[in-house]
Amino acid sequence: MNDCIFCRRDKLEIIAENELALAFKDRCPVSMGHSLVIPKRHVETYFDAGPEEHAAISSLVGQVSRFLQKDLNPDGYNIGANVGEAAGQTVFHFHIHVIPRYRGDVADPRGGVRKVIPSGSCHPLDSE
Ligand code: AMP
Ligand code: ZN
Repeated sequence: MNDCIFCRRDKLEIIAENELALAFKDRCPVSMGHSLVIPKRHVETYFDAGPEEHAAISSLVGQVSRFLQKDLNPDGYNIGANVGEAAGQTVFHFHIHVIPRYRGDVADPRGGVRKVIPSGSCHPLDSE
């Protein structure tokens, strides 16, 4: 038995699963409904999962979004993975964050995941 919290599963609030993947609520949600989707097999990062695991994870991300849409009716989502410590990964069992977004939850949402690195005021869609 390894000491990975996502492998142990005992404290996870599981919301959906399929043969190769598992979805559960994030313990420290950054928005209402923030959920994680993981492969059941312990792999460290996005790039260590195989194509069948990615397909299973993608299917669960869709299922989770349908649950969230029904329960919480968010206005949008950020979906993504941190790969490696330099990118902010803290739990080294690959997981996809499904982060529901609500109109007005931040003052200016433009850029979304681009904003993990603050980049000043350039907005590619602004007219010049
Ligand atoms: P990351 O920084 O991308 O590795 O994200 C790790 C995520 O796991 C964070 O959003 C944590 O809040 C979440 N987390 C850590 N431990 C647990 C746990 N026992 N149950 C649910 N989520 C957890
Ligand atoms: Zn694990």
